[in-house]
Amino acid sequence: MPTAPSDPPLLLTPGPLTTSRSVKEAMLRDWGSRDHEFIALNATVRQRLTALAGAEASHVTVPLQGSGTFVVEAMLGTLVPRDGRLLVLVNGAYGERMLRIAQYHGREARALRTPEDLPNDPGALDRALAEDPAITHVAVVHCETTSGILNPLYEIAEVTARHGRRLLIDAMSAFGALPLDAREIRFEAVAASANKCLEGVPGVAFAILEREALLAAAGNCPSLALDLHDQYLAMEKNGQWRFTPPTHVLAAFHQALIEHAEEGGVEGRGRRYRENCRILVEGMRRLGFVPLLPEEYQAPIIVTFRLPGDPAFLFEDFYDRLRRKGFVIYPGKLTVAPSFRIGCIGRVTAEDMRRAVAAVAETMQEMGVASGRPADRPPQPRSGEPQS
Ligand SMILES: *Cc1c(COP(=O)(O)O)cnc(C)c1O
Repeated sequence: MPTAPSDPPLLLTPGPLTTSRSVKEAMLRDWGSRDHEFIALNATVRQRLTALAGAEASHVTVPLQGSGTFVVEAMLGTLVPRDGRLLVLVNGAYGERMLRIAQYHGREARALRTPEDLPNDPGALDRALAEDPAITHVAVVHCETTSGILNPLYEIAEVTARHGRRLLIDAMSAFGALPLDAREIRFEAVAASANKCLEGVPGVAFAILEREALLAAAGNCPSLALDLHDQYLAMEKNGQWRFTPPTHVLAAFHQALIEHAEEGGVEGRGRRYRENCRILVEGMRRLGFVPLLPEEYQAPIIVTFRLPGDPAFLFEDFYDRLRRKGFVIYPGKLTVAPSFRIGCIGRVTAEDMRRAVAAVAETMQEMGVASGRPADRPPQPRSGEPQS
């Protein structure tokens, strides 16, 4: 059934994402920051997040106002000491961003790069750590949303722990849908946000940090607003936030975490996203589109497709037409190949993904695009055409 033009479109993007009606409805009242009910709600959110990472014995959750980048910056600023050295595993824009943050903070930082269509290399990490004993921290992106690639988090954690260094994880686009468990891997902190796989609204992010490391981090952070040590101590004292809390966003997040549990937690959410991803990739392949990544590297979060070679395919036109049919997709930001992206996360179902693929097929017909096949695949020679 086509989406009526008045329905808000589904967001098939890396975020902000489609949320449930009940998550939005949780915002229909006002709270004071000292309200007991709000303080209890805040504590429940923190507790549930720590539990999701299997980290109650070792870690604490500290929420922070702002988008995901705020908490990544807060995590790096709070935990990497002034005389520390950071090694960032980079295979996309979010790895680059962590490097940039470290530079803003005046922290010594190096990159260990792989191309955007290849995962981080644990062997290269092993060599880099052996060669440079001054590296104190390793930073990794769990799912690099730039391409949708899944990085080998468990192998990287193993290598980092074996060398006695500390691991900081940007799990923004994976947390809540892909397993990450403190009882299975060693990490000093993980950063994520309400509005990706946890399906809350944007405006609050959080880090789950080793309690001992956080307590030892007094005075590290070059920013007051982003100091997670200070934020933690203040919150532990009376359950309140240091500065105006995003009350409505937290109420929505609380509801989103209830719905996450009802769906079967990480396992259930991951299952729905994997099914969304499978329907999308199979459907797009039938239309000739080619995903950038081989199946074994693809996380079920967002899929990058190479741009079709057909000269009738203009991305802006494709985007606008899909938008009018009720689906918002996302441009690519790769340097390895011209591309666009379609997300599998947020409150979207298998049926939504089937409708999205049908809308792509219809749009191609309207545009006179015969196939989604990319340009750099050798075109089939057509009879009657001169061949060079
Ligand atoms: C979305 C995302 C972020 C945070 O981006 P914001 O726009 O600041 O919310 C960070 N890292 C990754 C891997 C992401 O997908």
